[in-house]
Amino acid sequence: MVSGTDGTRDAERTIGQLARHLPPTLSALASIAYNYWWAWQPWVESLFERISPERWSRCGMNPVRLLQEAGHEELERLANDREFEAVVARADRELRTYLRERPGTTAPIAYMCAEFGIHRSLPFYAGGLGVLAGDLLKAASDQGLAMVGVGLFYREGSFHQHIDASGWQHEYWQSTDSDRLPAVLVTNDGRPLTVHVSIHGRDVEVRVWRVDAGISRLYLLDTESAANAPSDRWITSRLYVGNREVRIAQYAVLGIGGVRALRAMGIAPCLVHLNEGHAALAAVELLRERLRDGSSWEEAAAHVRSRVAFTTHTPVAAGNETYSATEVRSVLPDLPEQLGAGWDALEALGRTDQFDEAEPLGLTPLALRLSGTANAVSRRHGEVARAMWRNIRPEAPGAAESISYVTNAVHLPTWIAVEWQDLFDRYVPGWRTAALGSEVWGMIGRLPDAEIWAVRNALRTRLAREVRSRSVSERLGRGEGVRYAESAAEGWRDDVLTLGFARRIATYKRLYLITSRPDQAARLLGGNPGLQIVIAGRAHPQDEPAKATVQQLFRLNQVPGVGGRGVFLEEYDLDLARRLVQGCDLWVNLPRPPREASGTSGMKSVVNGGLQISTLDGWWAEAYRPGLGWAVGGAEEHAPDEEEDRRDTESFFALLENEILPAFYDRDAAGLPSRWIAMIRASMQELLPTFSATRMIMDYRDLIYGPTLNKGAAM
Ligand SMILES: *Cc1c(COP(=O)(O)O)cnc(C)c1O
Repeated sequence: MVSGTDGTRDAERTIGQLARHLPPTLSALASIAYNYWWAWQPWVESLFERISPERWSRCGMNPVRLLQEAGHEELERLANDREFEAVVARADRELRTYLRERPGTTAPIAYMCAEFGIHRSLPFYAGGLGVLAGDLLKAASDQGLAMVGVGLFYREGSFHQHIDASGWQHEYWQSTDSDRLPAVLVTNDGRPLTVHVSIHGRDVEVRVWRVDAGISRLYLLDTESAANAPSDRWITSRLYVGNREVRIAQYAVLGIGGVRALRAMGIAPCLVHLNEGHAALAAVELLRERLRDGSSWEEAAAHVRSRVAFTTHTPVAAGNETYSATEVRSVLPDLPEQLGAGWDALEALGRTDQFDEAEPLGLTPLALRLSGTANAVSRRHGEVARAMWRNIRPEAPGAAESISYVTNAVHLPTWIAVEWQDLFDRYVPGWRTAALGSEVWGMIGRLPDAEIWAVRNALRTRLAREVRSRSVSERLGRGEGVRYAESAAEGWRDDVLTLGFARRIATYKRLYLITSRPDQAARLLGGNPGLQIVIAGRAHPQDEPAKATVQQLFRLNQVPGVGGRGVFLEEYDLDLARRLVQGCDLWVNLPRPPREASGTSGMKSVVNGGLQISTLDGWWAEAYRPGLGWAVGGAEEHAPDEEEDRRDTESFFALLENEILPAFYDRDAAGLPSRWIAMIRASMQELLPTFSATRMIMDYRDLIYGPTLNKGAAM
């Protein structure tokens, strides 16, 4: 890479500015703050927290802002603390060693995605897709695989959630202050580096921000330039805006702008990986480049396919976005001329039936037609995707044209609680980056019962503190009575079986199954000892049925005896997700098969010794075995929706009453729930290596990137 224009110097300059604000013995904190490597080193994270616990939480765990705002006195106090200084020095050393040991290559993988969930303080993600992208960048870095992420820098990011007293969700947005984020504006010759994308016939100026996460870099594009018209500046305002024209414009900035930005920075990827269809226009831009250089359409398309990989995430037809030809022509009128091709040729790429002029244009067909490899994100999703797209990619498993799968996974060091990290460091050395099949994992079988249970108790207790404090203040914030608000704190216990359900509230995830039998739910929640459940998640602003589900949940909470045992927490984000998956004993997932492509929150629960109760869909369809958790509804065939709902609700409640409660509360002579602990141990030993992002990145490397990795930058 040409280090002059890829933001390296900008990062050095910005780090230098922050370092000058710090006492000399602490100045290394500046370079640590600008590399999200710290986010998967809990001991480094706690350094920031120690500077000022209150400020740390007030600035949303953003270390750059923390250091910018820290007072002279706070800093001086720590500058004279020898022990603190020693930990800073160690963090500085370890980060340098980490980077030095992973030199990367000059031809990285370009990983393009509309959202990246690296950390709570970088609010450019909405849910699972972004979290996966973040985990993948981190795992690639740990494995020394050179990767640059390409995404969008959203002025207002994702929405904030507020629930009113009637249980209805409201949304609001806040603008992010880019000067305070661990992101640096990429410049060239002292001016922002820019590329242009033609949208509505106007040249829209696109700027580039750089974020570091280990050796992975993330380049984020925005259209906030003063040179742009207000409506063009709005393009990168919010994640997944409702306005369809703005969305097409976002995808043009991401795909076309993304490729141009890499070129402008002198970055020559060996492969472009389109993570979901949003970035599909990147392949069109690559096509344009070849056509411009004189290739025929067929040669150009063949070349593009040899350098593009595509991952689909959406088994629900409606989730695969389509746009009418009229919409696309209105937002991107110059596209055919730039390609030197007619609309016909372009539009044929976006249809499942190339000759059906009435069919709208889809991002997924476009990506499928211009990628060499295509993959789904779980075994089951692979089957669904092959059937769904067989017109475009013939269904024979293993055929080059077909759709394979790489099951999603989670970045262990990001998700696993520090208590487990300590235990693993003692019993399972090398676990952080061990591959699937490594003998290291066998050591999990040696974790003693008492130690496993001590960790589970500590984690449940920590979550309980959080639940009590958040639920009381959220209830008061909604204008609930003080009595009712306080019941949240009184009813929630440290030692009661704790269930978690946290995910995007979409109808197919069937949160409503839990509330569909209020009497049965109330009996379990009001039981002694019974169980308690914490629920979190956002409904898409336009998804009224999903919002109604949240409202039902609030009604359930009005049943006497339940008020303190069922809690909804607002503002589900990476930080709350981490607390929930660490603290809950049982993780609930009830998607209607086969709508869940993979699901990853259950994996985050597994790595923290949580057990699963889930329908056999997504990842759980390939992970489940008796003794490792519970399968709702069994492997029965799909039935009409209502019947399936009834069957799965019955199965869910029966499992809870007949199997789960007894297993959790049966104690042996030592006072330990030995059956429950045996399941935790088996689940961790069997599933953790498979659903660790180390396995996922190795699969991508071997199955998807493999052939192109060593070819260098042919693009
Ligand atoms: C892991 C995660 C998700 C995805 O969870 P699913 O199980 O796939 O629904 C969504 N949002 C956040 C904040 C997460 O951490």
